[in-house]
Amino acid sequence: MIEVHLPDGSLRSLEEGATAADLAAAIGPGLLKAAVAAKVDGQVKDLSSKLPAGSHVAILTKRDPEALDVLRHSAAHLMADAILHRFPEAQLTVGPAIEDGFFYDIHMSAGGSITPEDFAALEEEMARVAKAAHPFERCVAKDDLADPVFARYRAIDGGNNKFKGEIIEAIKNRGESLSFYRHGEFIDLCSGPHVPDTGWLKNVKLTKVSGAYWRGDPAREQLVRVYGTAFFSKSDLDDYLTALEEAKKRDHRVLGERLALFTFDDDAPGFPFYLPKGSLLWNSLADYMRSLLRRRNYQEVKTPIVLSEKLWHTSGHYDNYLENMFFTKLKMREVGHSCGVIDNVEEDRPMAMKPMNCPGHLIIYKSRLRSHNEFPLRICEMGLVHRRELSGVRHGLFRVQAFTQDDAHHFCTPDQIGGEVQMLIEFFKEVYTAFDLTDVRIELSTRPEKSLGSDEVWEKAESALKQSLDGAGIEYRINKGDGAFYGPKIDFHIRDVLKRSWQCGTIQLDFSMPERFGLTYVGADGERHTPVMVHRACYGSLERFLGIIIENYAGAFPLWIAPVQIMIIPVSDKFSAYAQRVNTLLLDAGLRSEVNLGPDRVGYKIRAASLQKLPYIAVVGEREEESGGLNIRSREQGEIGPTSIEAFLAKIQVERVAPVAIRPAAAAE
Ligand SMILES: [Zn+2]
Ligand SMILES: [Zn+2]
Repeated sequence: MIEVHLPDGSLRSLEEGATAADLAAAIGPGLLKAAVAAKVDGQVKDLSSKLPAGSHVAILTKRDPEALDVLRHSAAHLMADAILHRFPEAQLTVGPAIEDGFFYDIHMSAGGSITPEDFAALEEEMARVAKAAHPFERCVAKDDLADPVFARYRAIDGGNNKFKGEIIEAIKNRGESLSFYRHGEFIDLCSGPHVPDTGWLKNVKLTKVSGAYWRGDPAREQLVRVYGTAFFSKSDLDDYLTALEEAKKRDHRVLGERLALFTFDDDAPGFPFYLPKGSLLWNSLADYMRSLLRRRNYQEVKTPIVLSEKLWHTSGHYDNYLENMFFTKLKMREVGHSCGVIDNVEEDRPMAMKPMNCPGHLIIYKSRLRSHNEFPLRICEMGLVHRRELSGVRHGLFRVQAFTQDDAHHFCTPDQIGGEVQMLIEFFKEVYTAFDLTDVRIELSTRPEKSLGSDEVWEKAESALKQSLDGAGIEYRINKGDGAFYGPKIDFHIRDVLKRSWQCGTIQLDFSMPERFGLTYVGADGERHTPVMVHRACYGSLERFLGIIIENYAGAFPLWIAPVQIMIIPVSDKFSAYAQRVNTLLLDAGLRSEVNLGPDRVGYKIRAASLQKLPYIAVVGEREEESGGLNIRSREQGEIGPTSIEAFLAKIQVERVAPVAIRPAAAAE
């Protein structure tokens, strides 16, 4: 007999050689039926794995997140089986579970390809294998064709798969044994774990195909990456597929084009060009932020974009961030040759574009003597930064090479850290709520491998952040080793309407940069001290935040940020003059109003304005001109009907201004 520890702290006796499935059965037949895999001493294992005496065992059911990974990786085997069935020349490489599903990287040795057109046939084959409920069977073998398991494995995968060959070599070099998993006719090299049988894999869907390189190395073979997803229940799969469709419709790159917000050009890859409406939207975000910053005693500054390379050595960015920086390069004409250019001029003072705003703010801090009386000193900037991003990772406004941070640095005494962090958490939450992003999660990231500063300084910084979070009773998750190179940080992750998570705000403590730059302040004791520095941004990047809210609102922006708030449409040319008069009145009242005097018919103009998702449309004709009013149609409420201009302005009074935490009128409702 052996004994194992259960999650509730109790001990359970089992026969020698008992498996995790035996344990589940011993606990109850219900658990055995629900069991997907087991966690044995912290590692996820097959239900069929033997339990070592004294191990800590938890049976995983579909409610455990780890079980979903097991299901999805198992589905990758099922897909590989179907792919080999349809494309016998295909060679398998690796097939892991990923955040939203799984993929398998395939080498098409005959130069063929797999496309979404093949999905229906592949899914049909997968459904057939799933229905058969073949058990996933683990077999250990030597890489010797005399071993029947190995011989069978080699035969199934074309007999000479050099990718798996490389993996096998690496396993042998580590001195580990080769394990294979078989289901039905199919067998694959894999360390597991898997679901008990293919019957679990009924809710699977193939989603897309992309290119990949073997080992992620562009110098190696090109592979086809086939993606899919899998869920325990059909309704979970359906919900996911609906959300995926919805996300496609909301793609900010598509909406950015359709709503004429921004564009990109080959001459500036990864640098957005804001069109007039996109600029209005961008400015609304910046204006709103500025209004909140003023209320919190921030001092806005502007700092140069190009600064000396030397400065970036002092800041540590040169060592830690070189690959992402843009450097300027001096060029000169050759003396006497107007067309000759010297490319490699020796520069006294080489320059670089700022990838971050911090050093600029440190220079402003140092521009005069500082006293503890001005603390906490909050210096902010809508700071344009440039960072190199490879073309493969650029993505609309989400990942660009130039963006504006709503950046600020707080300088304070160590005693003031807690107050600053708590103020910032409230502040950031208010901002996200204003954009209807109310699902906010907080993570605390600790010291990374590549970092500046002593152990003592890091401990001090980490415990300062923990204390402020704990002190305010805020729930958070710890992200080990994910801090900035100069200090630990608190990150804000927000979920949009499609439940996708985005990292936006950040609060980073820095005990190291003030020292490197020799910052001081005169304390209450009249002595010089080094201040603590807090780096913080709420939107993070305005570009990225804009992309998020475009998708969150699906382009139907609330009135206060809508680039065009109302479109005036005359029913015919006869009323153009009145329409223009109304437009002028609304512009004078501070609204972003437009008038459509084009040649199209009124019905077409209304449709065009609706497709632009404008909050209000005002149609004007004889009746409106006589009464001096408008006929209003609202995006949210539909037909509102005839109304006077004053009544309309009164109606939208609240929704046209930025939401603020203290708004008595709204609070009273
Ligand atoms: Zn596997
Ligand atoms: Zn900074």
